[in-house]
Amino acid sequence: MNALEHELSYPLGDALPEAGRTLEIAPGVRWVRMGLPFALDHINLWLLRDELDGRAGWTIVDCGITSDATRAAWEEVFAHELQDLPVLRVIVTHMHPDHIGLAHWLTERWQCRLWISATDFNAATLASASTTGFGGGSAARFMASHGLTDPEAVEKIKARSNYYASMVPKVPPRFRRLLDGDRLRIGEHEWVCLVGYGHAPEHMSLHCPALGVLISGDMVLPRISTNVSVIDLEPEANPLPLYLASIERLRQLPADTLVLPSHGRPFRGLHQRIAQLKAHHDERFAELLAACHRGPQSAADLLGVLFKRKLDLHQTTFAMGEAIAHLNALWLAGRLRRTFDEDGVYRFSPV
Ligand SMILES: [Zn+2]
Repeated sequence: MNALEHELSYPLGDALPEAGRTLEIAPGVRWVRMGLPFALDHINLWLLRDELDGRAGWTIVDCGITSDATRAAWEEVFAHELQDLPVLRVIVTHMHPDHIGLAHWLTERWQCRLWISATDFNAATLASASTTGFGGGSAARFMASHGLTDPEAVEKIKARSNYYASMVPKVPPRFRRLLDGDRLRIGEHEWVCLVGYGHAPEHMSLHCPALGVLISGDMVLPRISTNVSVIDLEPEANPLPLYLASIERLRQLPADTLVLPSHGRPFRGLHQRIAQLKAHHDERFAELLAACHRGPQSAADLLGVLFKRKLDLHQTTFAMGEAIAHLNALWLAGRLRRTFDEDGVYRFSPV
């Protein structure tokens, strides 16, 4: 555990569900864990005991990426953990590949509906079908405009044009729309949809007041800070204030809420974790401002300030997105000035 994690508590200790099995963490709430082929090597998915249209069964929350390994792991879960009941619906917190990847397969396999926010449904549908607006040449030009001009990196980013579609080859053709504040009857309990911005277009967390459980998705994670990035699709986006306001809203939930995050282990200490995340971003803002006082800086110039470790290309693109998110926040708040220099690079300096 890192130092900050000591302020949190992990009620299940080191227990993890085995591959293809589940672990009950609250009445009717089961934890499924699947592998991911990234540095972040796993995702948590959830099974909720349900009854829908007069049928008993299960609701799945989040899906894993499209791969034979994930499909096989799901088949194991279906064979051993569903008590011979069907899956009745698939809820997806947001459009990122590890969450929505297998939604097409799961909803076909069980002939059931995908429930998701309209914004994330549309974004996923576009990203899955397109190789133009997501990644590839557009991403490479965007990164270069923020100072990532190393030819090798630019070429590699350009070549990654169907990155999303490779993990999300299809999105279900129909969906049921989730809106902030919606109350879903899932089995014996009511779950409230809580919108979160800044990480994905319209992320939905699910809170069950009766069980004292929050399915936080990626909005609050115990060990790592949630990725908040600007991408080429919306170059002047300002996601960090949106993210910070969204987690501030989650602070209204009871302090002893059991948080079920998409990565890491279920934990208590929601209020502490939100305070830690705010402090983390305040520190990043302070570091960036200090660096800009030494002279105009591009996002690429600042990677070493924000990230002390060596980054591979995948991590570099995430880190660039995060650096631009912090810079855009300071720029759009009037604390930094942005100039587009003769070399085609944006640089930021104090106002
Ligand atoms: Zn995500």
